Amino acid sequence: MKQQFEIAVFDGDGIGPEIMLPTLAILAQMAQVGGYRLDFNTVPAGAAHYAQTGKSLPEASMAAARASDAILLSAMGLPSVRYDDGTEISPQIDLRKALTLFAGVRPVRIFPGQKTPLNMPAGKEVDFVLIRESTEGLFHTQGRGEITKDDARETLLITRDISEKLFRFAFGLAKERKDQGRGQGRVTCVDKANVFRAFAFFREIFDAEAAKHPDLMADHAYVDAAALWFVLKPWDFDVLVTENMFGDILSDLGAGLMGGLGVAPSADIGLDHAVFQPCHGSAPDIAGQGIANPLAMILSGAMMLDWLGLRHDAPQLVADGTRLREAVEAVIAQGKVLTGDLGGQASTQETADAVMAALA
Ligand code: NAD
Repeated sequence: MKQQFEIAVFDGDGIGPEIMLPTLAILAQMAQVGGYRLDFNTVPAGAAHYAQTGKSLPEASMAAARASDAILLSAMGLPSVRYDDGTEISPQIDLRKALTLFAGVRPVRIFPGQKTPLNMPAGKEVDFVLIRESTEGLFHTQGRGEITKDDARETLLITRDISEKLFRFAFGLAKERKDQGRGQGRVTCVDKANVFRAFAFFREIFDAEAAKHPDLMADHAYVDAAALWFVLKPWDFDVLVTENMFGDILSDLGAGLMGGLGVAPSADIGLDHAVFQPCHGSAPDIAGQGIANPLAMILSGAMMLDWLGLRHDAPQLVADGTRLREAVEAVIAQGKVLTGDLGGQASTQETADAVMAALA
């Protein structure tokens, strides 16, 4: 059984290093107690690095990412640092494409005691996963859109190859969740198949994969209706799977339901690699003050432990992933040590210390 894992760490821009540091400390402590090794290799990339060196994702950093067992990333990009065409430096998106990380996994959980803008009916909990395709869709021509004086064009691309991998992953996740007693075993394809041929194609591939899983349920939702249900009855969802741009927007809606970006983790998973990072960006408006919420980063670390454990048949890591998620949920539910975005006054370090204490 594998006991030693190489982790490439991108601590990025803005609040990135502030939330990464306590996350690594928590993970290192868990590894020490759990009897396995996490070897962290921090590598440069991002907007500040681009401003200094002209490279946003150096080849050596990319090579370290490829060679690692998993990649932890805080956030990259600064609105003040841009390419000549006006777009921002975004190596986190370049990584997804370079490593074919087609499945953007965005869990949405609201448990008793958690602050949410929703009016939760008694006895209901929200626990679903949005899977955002992360390598093509409307991001296909990112950085290559055509612009003339009078019009602008971007191209949406849906391929059979990536869609098949994406849906296989979605049904696999629904099965895993069902086996853990966390879902009904249902996958919902979110699309716009009523209007666009590309989405009819997407749906057809979804239906073909669904037919291979008679033990699981499959249904469809148009993206506009799905947005409505996010607000009216999110407790009905289990696993949702959708195109890149729809997923980009819906995942922030999901983060909003959980009380904000500061508690929304994510993973970008492919066949051979995975990046674990919070849904939020580099938050330059609060950077350098030590007040950023580290919980989304820590929860992303928990997702990494879970993924590594399942992939390498290492039950201790899976157990630690669950333990870390539950420790974060306990800190949120107690509501005593919370950062400003969640209505508290705690610093980044105090919040991370509270998680460490909950683990002990
Ligand atoms: P953002 O997520 O950085 O910030 C949005 C708002 O949420 C801000 O008010 C910020 O203070 C707050 N916020 C975000 N994370 C927080 C945290 N952990 N704790 C407390 N408050 C938090 O989004 P933005 O302002 O649109 O983008 C800032 C930069 O980040 C841009 O350069 C953008 O391109 C980049 N970005 C990067 C990623 C990524 O690396 N995956 C994702 C989104 C945006």
